[in-house]
Amino acid sequence: MAKLTKKQLEELNEKLTLPKKAVWAKATAKERKEIFALAERYKDFLDNAKTERLAVETIRAMAEKKGFKDIKSKAAGSKFYVVFQNKAIALGVLGRQKPSQGFRLIGAHIDAPRLDLKMHPLFENLELAFLKTHYYGGIKKYQWFARPLAIHGVVCTAEGKTVVIDWGEKPDDPVFTVLDLLPHLSRKVQGEKKLNEAFEAERMNVLLAGLPLEAEEGGDLVKLAVLQYLDKKHGLKEADLISAELEIVPAGPARDVGLDRALVGAYGQDDRASAFCGVEAILNVSNPAKSCLGLFVDKEEIGSEGSTSASSRFLEMVAAQLMEKAKEKPGYLSVGQALARSKALSADVNGALDPDYPEVHEKNNAAFMGYGVTLTKYTGHGGKYGASDANAEYVAWLRKAWDDAGVTWQAAGMGRVDEGGGGTIAKLLAIYGMEIVDVGPALLSMHSPFEISHKADIWSTCQAFAAFLAAPEG
Ligand code: MN
Ligand code: MN
Repeated sequence: MAKLTKKQLEELNEKLTLPKKAVWAKATAKERKEIFALAERYKDFLDNAKTERLAVETIRAMAEKKGFKDIKSKAAGSKFYVVFQNKAIALGVLGRQKPSQGFRLIGAHIDAPRLDLKMHPLFENLELAFLKTHYYGGIKKYQWFARPLAIHGVVCTAEGKTVVIDWGEKPDDPVFTVLDLLPHLSRKVQGEKKLNEAFEAERMNVLLAGLPLEAEEGGDLVKLAVLQYLDKKHGLKEADLISAELEIVPAGPARDVGLDRALVGAYGQDDRASAFCGVEAILNVSNPAKSCLGLFVDKEEIGSEGSTSASSRFLEMVAAQLMEKAKEKPGYLSVGQALARSKALSADVNGALDPDYPEVHEKNNAAFMGYGVTLTKYTGHGGKYGASDANAEYVAWLRKAWDDAGVTWQAAGMGRVDEGGGGTIAKLLAIYGMEIVDVGPALLSMHSPFEISHKADIWSTCQAFAAFLAAPEG
């Protein structure tokens, strides 16, 4: 055989190899405008949804604006939402086919790593009042010291009152902070220790106040002043802090990052990036063949445990309720069959190839920032332990759906095999026998107080989710 000419070589390459393509390079002028417009809505979502409870409220409000009704209401129609224990929410759109024929499901989690409070949080030390914290999810503790923090959540009283706390977000609000030691004195107690040991959970106390009550005798007068404020302002006592869920999160809004504003920097993008794209896709689906479900759950960051997590029966309940709305009988068998006939995306972020730490990634199988939504066939760690590994047939179907819709996408895993790994809610939904695969945008500085996403990837993820919902069954 004769040697290939340069042109023949080019043609062969184009025909057979898989090129990597940046979203921006392919985008038209109109699409480039869309990418930036979408990012503005995305940042608003992040600012409003700083905790799982706030995410539920934000998603509910967005859904109501688009005509979705509470499934408990008598209202007829085809678009519903279901709120569960204020920390999980599902969106459902009835399709032209009955729900028993299977759903198109997008599931994402709406909790994020943070600092929670202990049951007895409030104490005074050296005439300063503090809150004792208990970190939630996989954090690098040192990232939470010496930065402005906000407090969100609820305090529930024995009398049945729920007080909503929202401190530290408005520009003129006071903020809070975890103190860090000055470098002049930290050479031994921090500098000579391993990273994990240098920053101890029991030293992560949130500075809350510094003015004592005026009184003749001593005692914890700053703590008492805080309690007096809580009593006067909210009718709360110290015991009420036991029945509270207060979350300490980075204060302040999402920001554009970069001179060209290509990126978004914000807390909680794992996984509110995927949640946002999932909500956008479900809210904008029109007259779909399959019934569509958006599932937004809590507690993923601590292993999906508990009633509001992906391991609860919430999904079964929602599927049954949608079947009822479609005048179908939701029995054990029919709900099970509907879920087993479903196709799902486990919408979650992935770690992007970090330019400063390429050694933990395997470049051929790493996600690139700006190269579009990431498909992760399998998750897990080590020898695929704890993995959800999608079926080849299903991945092939999804590839076609995206290619037919012109979605720019990439396939990537988390990092080098021996380096670590992680899981998502995919394996918990796979229990029902549905087809499922992990999909979402890649982030830099993932799990940090300031995670970085690429605006083009958020846009691409929205496109990928919309294409998934609309694709023919095949
Ligand atoms: Mn996640
Ligand atoms: Mn995570």
